[in-house]
Amino acid sequence: MAKAALKLIESEPVLEGYRVLARKYRPTKLSEVIGQDFLVETLKRGIEGGRLSHAFILTGIRGTGKTTTARIIARSLNCEAGPTPEPCGTCSSCESIAGDRSMDVIEIDAASRTSVEDVREIIEAARYKAVSSRYKIYIIDEVHMLSKSAFNALLKTLEEPPPHVKFIFATTEIHKVPATILSRCVRFDLKRIESATLSSYFKVLCDKEKVGYEDEAIALIAKAAEGSVRDGLSLLDQAMTHGTAEVTASQVREMLGLSDQGLLLELFETLMSGDIKTSLEKLRYFYQEGADPVRLLEDLLDLTHWLHCIKINPDLAQDPTLSSEKREKGCALVQSLSIPTLTRVWQILLKGFEETKQAPSPQKALEVIIIRLAHLAPLPSIHELLEGFSPTPEKKKS
Ligand SMILES: [Zn+2]
Repeated sequence: MAKAALKLIESEPVLEGYRVLARKYRPTKLSEVIGQDFLVETLKRGIEGGRLSHAFILTGIRGTGKTTTARIIARSLNCEAGPTPEPCGTCSSCESIAGDRSMDVIEIDAASRTSVEDVREIIEAARYKAVSSRYKIYIIDEVHMLSKSAFNALLKTLEEPPPHVKFIFATTEIHKVPATILSRCVRFDLKRIESATLSSYFKVLCDKEKVGYEDEAIALIAKAAEGSVRDGLSLLDQAMTHGTAEVTASQVREMLGLSDQGLLLELFETLMSGDIKTSLEKLRYFYQEGADPVRLLEDLLDLTHWLHCIKINPDLAQDPTLSSEKREKGCALVQSLSIPTLTRVWQILLKGFEETKQAPSPQKALEVIIIRLAHLAPLPSIHELLEGFSPTPEKKKS
């Protein structure tokens, strides 16, 4: 199962007559890697100073550039003009690596080759010198999937590596890699990439592709990518192949299945006013648009969380991924809502979320939650009641 999933992730979709962005713009030198400043700087110094370990392990969530970085290290080490952090891209070594033809850079997907025999094969081959390059480089992807005996076999080579051999491991699950292996590798943690960094990168790509964009659309994609360049690029691919000459926010919202934030805020506002009838009418509108009840509840939870945040710190409403409509409506709405009310709404929604997931009819479950919210939310909390009855006159605020 995991194998199939991995395959799915690794094989980038090929859209008709179109080279996917992730492939077209894959970085080929360290200076092109985005959002991993520490890693880039450390590797650059290591390569320039000729002080590179014989084994690396790159870890991070999927899509942060582990395999790409591994290939860049391989190019950097074997470039005929190097070792250099800026491989030339034109020498026979660089070209053969780019074309997946290098005899000296061996890429292994541990998800499909986990057995001890597979590792033995590698170790046997590691004794021989590189065919035409400086180093023989083994890139082992998803290394945590190797079997225990495979790790043990590998360990012997890691303890006394031949000088012409380098290992580069990549993994999404570093905790599954034995400590004995880890202790023999230089470890790099690839960070989730900040959405601001992703945004500016995607804008550069749009310009290169001569595709127009709305800032908000790009910000939405960057946010949805959750730190993964690959996920972001595949979303951008989808947005670009939707046919329009411009990537617009409304199109991206639709593509991401984001419910209309303006309408969601209106629903929230109606709920807080205690108008049950109108709240249910508004809810029905979402259904007509094909909204999924569970997803809608998630959106309401997100919205409640966000209202909490801007209630506490109004500056947070200035987030560029927000539409101006959401910003204005949200800021106006929290004026009339107290933290205890918002917290109570959160509790009702969260409880309702679980109920809806298990309900025979999620739609009916959501309606009942909406009624509950509209009924309860405007009521003052015990704290507010007590405050209202406080004998000290200065506490009586209108
Ligand atoms: Zn080169």
